[in-house]
Amino acid sequence: MIRLLPFQFKEHSDGRILLVNSSGDYYFVSKDTFEAIISHKINEYNPDYYNLKSRMFFDDGTGNSSIQMISAKYRSRKSYLRDFTSFHMMVITLRCNQKCEYCQVSCAENDAYKYDMSIETAYKIVDMIFESPSDNVKIEFQGGEPTLHFGLIEKTVLYAKTKNNQFNKTISFVICTNLTAITKEQLIFCRDNNIYISTSLDGPNNVHDTNIKNLSLARNILGKQSVDALMTTTSTSLRNLHRVVDEYIELGFAGIFIRSLNPYGFAAENSAKLGYSMDEFVDSYIDALKYIISINKNKYFPEYFATLLFSRILTPFSTGFVDLQSPAGTGISGVIYDFDGSVYPSDEARMLARMGDKYFNLGNVYFDSYKSIFGGGKLKNIISSSCVETTMDCAYCVYQSYCGTDPIRNYLESGMVNRKMGNTNFCIKHKRIFDYLFSFLSNMSEFEENIIWNWITRSNTVNGNA
Ligand code: SF4
Ligand code: SF4
Repeated sequence: MIRLLPFQFKEHSDGRILLVNSSGDYYFVSKDTFEAIISHKINEYNPDYYNLKSRMFFDDGTGNSSIQMISAKYRSRKSYLRDFTSFHMMVITLRCNQKCEYCQVSCAENDAYKYDMSIETAYKIVDMIFESPSDNVKIEFQGGEPTLHFGLIEKTVLYAKTKNNQFNKTISFVICTNLTAITKEQLIFCRDNNIYISTSLDGPNNVHDTNIKNLSLARNILGKQSVDALMTTTSTSLRNLHRVVDEYIELGFAGIFIRSLNPYGFAAENSAKLGYSMDEFVDSYIDALKYIISINKNKYFPEYFATLLFSRILTPFSTGFVDLQSPAGTGISGVIYDFDGSVYPSDEARMLARMGDKYFNLGNVYFDSYKSIFGGGKLKNIISSSCVETTMDCAYCVYQSYCGTDPIRNYLESGMVNRKMGNTNFCIKHKRIFDYLFSFLSNMSEFEENIIWNWITRSNTVNGNA
């Protein structure tokens, strides 16, 4: 007699039943086999018996303990929890020299210096960052436009590096910039201190042109691998995703992350003009993904969101993607410090505070200790409410092992950190994309399978050639 191990299931569009267990292994079976499994009647004569057994959907009492194997895989998938808060974002100014309609942070005017972080605040933040138990620390400078306050970046980087002489952590730095105000001297400082540049390539044309000019300067000084770009899909780019992909390729980027618009800041105020329904986004996303896969027949060019999801489906490893984890990565994987030293579990929580609601404020580096901010009741509540395993609809969803919830977004949309997820935009997006990816996985050619594995392993090989 077999003993069933935990799994979720769903009828797929082709009539077969998709099974996914708690360590993320999946398998398709016919309805008859499914009936045999759940009635404990499946036996060795069923052609799927040994595949199902080796993927740990049941245990028949022979061989290695499936429970031990499944728990080892489960621990690997959740290993991001051991690297407690390694990603620290610092909002060093709210000032910006642009006013993008899709801006999610509601930035301040170029000369609103009262929104600059002081050096005392920056040093206090670095001191707190070094209290984190993580051996890996990434500090990301954000804004507004952080290069408008570059002197603070220089002092903070040098202070953190000196401090690290006592701690010996692996430390890295990133500046998120629109590149329009960056100077050659600043780029040389970045090169000399191994600072990465992350930019966005979807602004209005005048921003875009300066952006491209400085992008090339940044690459000449720092090297291509140290400069990356993010895109946020607006209603205009949604209709032109093929062109956006072409532009990223022409500009020599190694891949693209197609992101949907978040409902914060100016993006929320301008949603009537910039927005679209989640179904429209998913339609265009899937269309763009097919286009990108076709390009990969001749050229390595991953779409990073699909790569993350494929990694979750096909490997037992933790992707460390903060937005899609259970429990959520807010505060425990990444945290953000506002210009005045206030601490928030995520950038979205800070944006919500800018919109007037400080519900997610975890404290301030001036008045609160590391222990009270990161070990306090507020963060514990947010985290314990953000497990898909205990969230309505997710608890029985076949995609539970690959998905997550976003407590900040839940709160913004419903007033509750933990809510019923079915029919939310978050759920529509992920469920439909997972549906598509599973159809793709069941019908892909060997060549397409190689493309997906090249994306997952970041192996830049096309047709077997490096
Ligand atoms: S999106 Fe960036 S560049 Fe545009 S206004 Fe906001 S902070 Fe400035
Ligand atoms: S958010 Fe939707 S797709 Fe994700 S686990 Fe929950 S129910 Fe499933």
